[in-house]
Amino acid sequence: MNISILGSTGSIGTQALEVVDDLKGIKDIAVLAITGNSNVELLEAQARRYKPSLAVIADEKKYNDLKCRLADTNIKVSTGEEGLCEAATLDKCDMVLSSIVGFAGLVPTMKAIEAGKDIALANKETLVTAGGLFTDAVKRHNVRLLPVDSEHSAIFQSLHGGNRGELNKILLTASGGPFFGKTKDELKGIKKEQALKHPNWSMGAKITIDSATLMNKGLEIIEAKWLFDVFLDDIEVVVHRESIIHSMVEFCDKSVIAQLSLPSMKHPIQYAFTYPERLPSPDRSVSFAELKALTFAKPDEETFRCLALAKKAGRMGGIMPTVLNAANEVAVAAFLCDKIGFLEIGEYVESVLSKYENKLNFTIEDIIEIDRSVRLEHKI
Ligand code: NAD
Ligand code: MG
Repeated sequence: MNISILGSTGSIGTQALEVVDDLKGIKDIAVLAITGNSNVELLEAQARRYKPSLAVIADEKKYNDLKCRLADTNIKVSTGEEGLCEAATLDKCDMVLSSIVGFAGLVPTMKAIEAGKDIALANKETLVTAGGLFTDAVKRHNVRLLPVDSEHSAIFQSLHGGNRGELNKILLTASGGPFFGKTKDELKGIKKEQALKHPNWSMGAKITIDSATLMNKGLEIIEAKWLFDVFLDDIEVVVHRESIIHSMVEFCDKSVIAQLSLPSMKHPIQYAFTYPERLPSPDRSVSFAELKALTFAKPDEETFRCLALAKKAGRMGGIMPTVLNAANEVAVAAFLCDKIGFLEIGEYVESVLSKYENKLNFTIEDIIEIDRSVRLEHKI
């Protein structure tokens, strides 16, 4: 199999390359293209090791640097959105791992679908913003869409336990993040260093903050709605602190089927790469005797407003999830630069949402424009 990895220098991208190494000799995967935004050193090291035909540095200011570094190889170097789209559509590529963070992943992922590539999807923001257009394109171009987000991979795997018509609801698990159980007062002075410490997962900065605000779970509800063609009200969030059950589905006979494994993104990445097969993994087994107990709780949507806001935007549909997503990206970036406090992330998202009128029919160009307008007109 030949793959392109959009976002190879990130948390998902680097783990995907480890999966490629793990599978060597069991299922050989050639990496045709890799991309990064600004980490030229890492992209160069990956290019030398995996020998793709194309390496793309999205930040145009870094293009010359990467080009010089790879001058002694026959690897083509490109840049900008054009370069990302080239990486997403290479002739010999079978599958694109969409693991750029944020809205920036949308256009290249859509181009990959239009070029007939199967998609392993980590970038949830694409489904949140362009869900209907995205899933229509997947059907039209007859490509496979395999979830990489751990919860969605778990749901996808659990759904094999029954027929779609027999599904009652989805139980989407949430770790609760580093601030589970805290009150609004206790969250006031939170510093980014505290918010960046996730109890179970090591991830990129943006999704780590989203996990702390529970926006991540809100985005995942919308992601699940589009991936599995269900109503938002048929998705229930369950806080499960241990992150062992990655999500569950309940069928009409009230049987619940779940997928369990130790928290490692390499599991869902590998499953997306090998589906429908399961291949050996070097991961450790779950030891139930060591774990002793698994716990469950309700999420606190009063304190963690972002979850409620995402549900609201998701129910409204149309362009509102795009507004929510863009506002959240702006707010998280501002929080990471110490410009706003932790609780202000939700306050800002709520205020931006209130400034937009919904529009139910839209094109990709429309949401690109809306995303741009949120970033320009509501700068922090
Ligand atoms: P990350 O920040 O570690 O990596 C992001 C990648 O995108 C990097 O390669 C970076 O260079 C690239 N990138 C960033 N901005 C870009 C831009 N403007 N143009 C082009 N490339 C750009 O993020 P991550 O944690 O790997 O997450 C990637 C995606 O996967 C996100 O959508 C996230 O929600 C999703 N996801 C991540 C995890 C996880 O465990 N990390 C789990 C589930 C889902
Ligand atoms: Mg997840």
